[in-house]
Amino acid sequence: MEAAAARPLQVAAIGVCAETGFWDSLRRLKLDVLGTDDSPIPITGYYTPRQYEKIASLFRICPESILPPSANSFGDRNNCPVPGTLLNTNNMRGFQNLDRALILRAEAKKILHDISSGNVEENPSLLLRFLVISFADLKNWKVYYNVAFPSLVFDSKITLLSLKFASSALSQEEVTSLSKAFIEWRKSSETTVVPFFLINITQDSTATVRHLKDWKACQGNGQKLLFGFYDHGNRGFPGWALRNYIAFVSLRCKIEKVQFFCYREKRGHPDLQQSLIGEASFLAPHGWDAPDYVPEAIGWEGETIGKEYKEMKPKEIDLSSINPASQDEEKQLMHLKLMGWRHFAVNLDKLSSARCLLLGAGTLGCEVARLLMTWGVRKLTVVDNGCVSMSDLVKQSLYTDKDCGVPRVTAIVPHLKERCSAVEVEGIQMEIPILGHNISASNAASVLDDCKRLQTLVDSNDVVFLLNETRESMWLPTLLCADKNKIAIAALLKYDSYLVMRHGAGPGIKGGGMDEVIAQIENLSTEDALGRQRLGCCFCSDIASLVNSEYTGTLDQHSTVISPGLTSVASGKAVELFARMLHHPDEIHAPGDIAGTDTEHQLGLLPHQMQGSLSKCVLSTVLCNSSSNCIACSNAVLSEYRRRGFYFVMQAINCPTHLKELTNISDLKKPFACSKISASIPVNLEKLSSARCLLLGAGTLGCDVARILMTTISLTMVEHTFQDCGVRKITIVDSGRVVVSNLARQSLYTSDDRDSPKASAILGHLKERCPSVIAEGIKMEIPMPGHPVSPNEAASVLEECKRLQELVASHDAIFLLTDTRESRWLPTLLCANENKIAITAALGYDSYLVMRHGAGPGTSRGNPDGDAAADKLSAEDALGRQRLGCYFCNDVVAPVDSVSNRTLDQQCTVTRPGLASIASGRAADLFTRLLHHPDGIHAQGEIAGTNSEGPLGLLPHQIRGSLSQYNLLTLLGYSSSNCTACSNAVLSEYQRRGMDFVMQVINEPTYLEDLTGITDLMKSAAYSQVEWIDEADDDEIDML
Ligand SMILES: [Zn+2]
Ligand SMILES: [Zn+2]
Repeated sequence: MEAAAARPLQVAAIGVCAETGFWDSLRRLKLDVLGTDDSPIPITGYYTPRQYEKIASLFRICPESILPPSANSFGDRNNCPVPGTLLNTNNMRGFQNLDRALILRAEAKKILHDISSGNVEENPSLLLRFLVISFADLKNWKVYYNVAFPSLVFDSKITLLSLKFASSALSQEEVTSLSKAFIEWRKSSETTVVPFFLINITQDSTATVRHLKDWKACQGNGQKLLFGFYDHGNRGFPGWALRNYIAFVSLRCKIEKVQFFCYREKRGHPDLQQSLIGEASFLAPHGWDAPDYVPEAIGWEGETIGKEYKEMKPKEIDLSSINPASQDEEKQLMHLKLMGWRHFAVNLDKLSSARCLLLGAGTLGCEVARLLMTWGVRKLTVVDNGCVSMSDLVKQSLYTDKDCGVPRVTAIVPHLKERCSAVEVEGIQMEIPILGHNISASNAASVLDDCKRLQTLVDSNDVVFLLNETRESMWLPTLLCADKNKIAIAALLKYDSYLVMRHGAGPGIKGGGMDEVIAQIENLSTEDALGRQRLGCCFCSDIASLVNSEYTGTLDQHSTVISPGLTSVASGKAVELFARMLHHPDEIHAPGDIAGTDTEHQLGLLPHQMQGSLSKCVLSTVLCNSSSNCIACSNAVLSEYRRRGFYFVMQAINCPTHLKELTNISDLKKPFACSKISASIPVNLEKLSSARCLLLGAGTLGCDVARILMTTISLTMVEHTFQDCGVRKITIVDSGRVVVSNLARQSLYTSDDRDSPKASAILGHLKERCPSVIAEGIKMEIPMPGHPVSPNEAASVLEECKRLQELVASHDAIFLLTDTRESRWLPTLLCANENKIAITAALGYDSYLVMRHGAGPGTSRGNPDGDAAADKLSAEDALGRQRLGCYFCNDVVAPVDSVSNRTLDQQCTVTRPGLASIASGRAADLFTRLLHHPDGIHAQGEIAGTNSEGPLGLLPHQIRGSLSQYNLLTLLGYSSSNCTACSNAVLSEYQRRGMDFVMQVINEPTYLEDLTGITDLMKSAAYSQVEWIDEADDDEIDML
């Protein structure tokens, strides 16, 4: 090969191989460590001068590339390390908007600085510094990226004067000597990773390879000096690295002509047949030595001269093919890892290894088991003695019609597995011995067996959930947990109120050199092992009802007759309490917090007991210490149990008066009487079953709300019979499909539904729980403001708007359960226009909002003719009352595209497991109350504590609750005249222009703000004085 004449230097671009393993490492790093941090990450790339037949060697970015530089950057002869920078953005929009030209120049400036400061002589690989920009779409297991090798651009062209293969440019002696020198250079671990070097050839043809920093010493004396480098180029083209090398030569050596050597290797040996020797000349660039100079640069892979960087197509990597076995589990745990991004780091190891024993596989058992899985619990044992009956189906969330007649513990196992294949679950069918049930001679042996079996189960588990339907059956497990110092969490339901509590730790041992066995019996301390006062158990504070062993059974009967959604609320709280306790450094010994106090703990407060009522909209945290009269956890009982074991247990079960005597409570007066609950609740079964409900969203909230609506069994207690009743006409709209990460969280779906549209998958699951339900599913995207549509999409978006309009018109109540703010806008507008009940449920990270929208406006009097009516919307509703507000009334900005700029954890609406259950329970409950109110949608908003409750309890306008703060607020807000969804300005515009108006809102993000005067409001000084209800929570909820 002979260079014909001087010509511009052309170099070969670098071929990059970014291995899937690298991206998988990034995925883990992002998820587990980085979170929302998107600052640049130092990485290392590798290349080699080794050439394959006709193929240039690739620049490798591999799993090790992402390790901290100290751990891996040393490399070896086939992996010459090169420093790089990774910029991983938090979202696609951030990736697209990166100023590629600017970033490239910034990197080039670093190279320039390294040259002029002398860093390159110490670490020559800095000349090949590279840059990776990416967006790791963890949700979809994809990565989008571009790679650049920034290269300084000279003012004028570099001229290639000659270019030859080394074997023909050098004499035979020189080739021999040089090959030897290269073998030495490549053999030493210190030099083999140095990609830029000098070749010195003396007049007697002796060649040496030397470090770049020796360039001054090598000049003159008639010696030949070549600037050599490991070349990744191919055939007749030098590699890309030559460009910055020439910049180095120009700037540091101040010369305008260079001889270079492109070193290539074949099968581990210097290949001087393929290596190139060339000569290039160039003019010294201007201004490079000025300190603030930012050089021009090129170097994006696939860069096309003259095209905008924005048109550059990102490369795409699909990560779903790696680790398919563990991928399902990783997807299911992702939401927990995402919690660590902003909130607190979930201890997944602790959760997955915690062995949880659930006593009861009924209403509470089903919910708690499923929610525990969403917290990452993987070891469950479920104990129950009953079988699934037809009437259980709507209430006990996991069972379907096929399970009828099957023992619950058998039926529950596959239902948990099909939601989470990694869960280990064992079902044990057994009766839990019940206090006060006479033991006959014939069943004594089996009762004793059950006692022993329960003891073994408590011993072998870490946490016990008391979800039994009767309190008498909680006695033995409570005693066993106190004895073994096991975490016990109890949930009790009573008509429409619940109690969720954790039992205190068992007693510690008093000091003293007693024999151990005796000490354990006789010297029980009144404090726990940490010297703290023990917290009470569920028998401590409610002595009366149990002392009275002719227990009236009020609780029993009511425990199955519960307000809609109560189970969901209580289960959500129980599981939350468990997770909090597990993360508390003192675990079972953690003192009980009271709401309203400060806590240092990231998880928020850790109360001892929570009591709440749905009808009163109250939630209180209660703290009570272990009572010395307690029949289950007092030292008197525990030492008796330790002394006499199961003889004592059997005696107590058979004859509870024994417990009375033991605990000296026979003289105690009944501290309070169980409050009587009115025997007939005026529930209108007809109204419920004929109400047509439209659910927008079939995700976590949608599943729960649909199921709870069917369960609405606030039943007539007349003659102690109850009858299943609930909503039977449900239409569900959703555009998504079931994916594996939905399974445990979205209560209805199972692994068989994967990839099916949610709108159709959900129908079967509703039917198999309630055959009489008439459910319809509609796969449809809800049109959203601020999401401009292209002309060819316009027709279908218009169709969807009309479809939604028809759906709203043909239903009685609309539930807004979607997960973006903007998707609630059109339904809100349509509901206000049609005067339909609209109920919104929205989740923050640990807070929720459940609200009903106000009625639409009435028309002003004195405008009898229809045309004018549209313009004369009244400020009041049809009953002449001030209209209540909607979801958007408090907002100061119009809903626009809020997703693109979000980080992954925001896109996934990371919420604490259990929160959706609580919000869904409240939403369904609010609906039931509203439906029964004589004024319906016009009912005024009530505030908790104001004594305004009707027979169905309080009917608030908005309920806001926070899991970590344990507060529950009822709020009241009126429709705002600036509201972007329900104000008269918006409604009359809609009535005038119909879907034209809607389409304009969709396409023009600022149009709504102009129309409603929000723009002016924001501009005016008065804005700062506008007070929004409950500002503290707004941030969290507005993100939705
Ligand atoms: Zn107790
Ligand atoms: Zn509004």
